[in-house]
Amino acid sequence: MTQAHTNKRFEAAIALGGNVGDVERTFKRATLRLDKHPDITLLRRSDWMQTKAVGGPADQADFLNGAIVVETTLAPGALLRVCQEVETHLGRDRSAEEHWGPRTLDLDLLLYATQSVQQEGLKVPHARLVERRFVLEPLAQIAPDWQIPGTGASVAQCLERLPAECSF
Ligand code: ADP
Ligand code: MG
Repeated sequence: MTQAHTNKRFEAAIALGGNVGDVERTFKRATLRLDKHPDITLLRRSDWMQTKAVGGPADQADFLNGAIVVETTLAPGALLRVCQEVETHLGRDRSAEEHWGPRTLDLDLLLYATQSVQQEGLKVPHARLVERRFVLEPLAQIAPDWQIPGTGASVAQCLERLPAECSF
């Protein structure tokens, strides 16, 4: 059974990241799979950008990062569960990985309409969204004017506010 909580449709922004295997192909398959879900429609996607790994083990491979905007009738928690199913389907094994270490696919829920969510295992806006150039940059391509709850600023404004020396 699908978990549509209402017929109302909300826009949500999701970050993609990965540095193991053919990540471009993984991103293509992940976005296709999300779009095929009966309660999720892909609206926009950013360019995929190559970035240096932040945190985690030294010398891990560069990441590919990107962002998508979807429309969904799923509640935030249900949307995250679908994202985690897609991660697993595309080869991610959380039990075998280091914190912030190499992974085939990371899907993070960045924004859900204008809502702030604080649940067990889910915080929206994503806790590190406004610190990370590799997340804000692709997101600003496809949703520059989205107001980030709790910041009083849009995605584009948060990107501008990042210190110049912040390369990640
Ligand atoms: P990363 O911090 O690199 O994304 P994981 O993907 O393993 O690492 O996520 C760690 C935990 O973060 C997950 O178990 C998930 O429940 C939690 N989490 C909290 N808020 C979010 C969010 N907005 N999007 C994705 N995961 C989240
Ligand atoms: Mg994640």
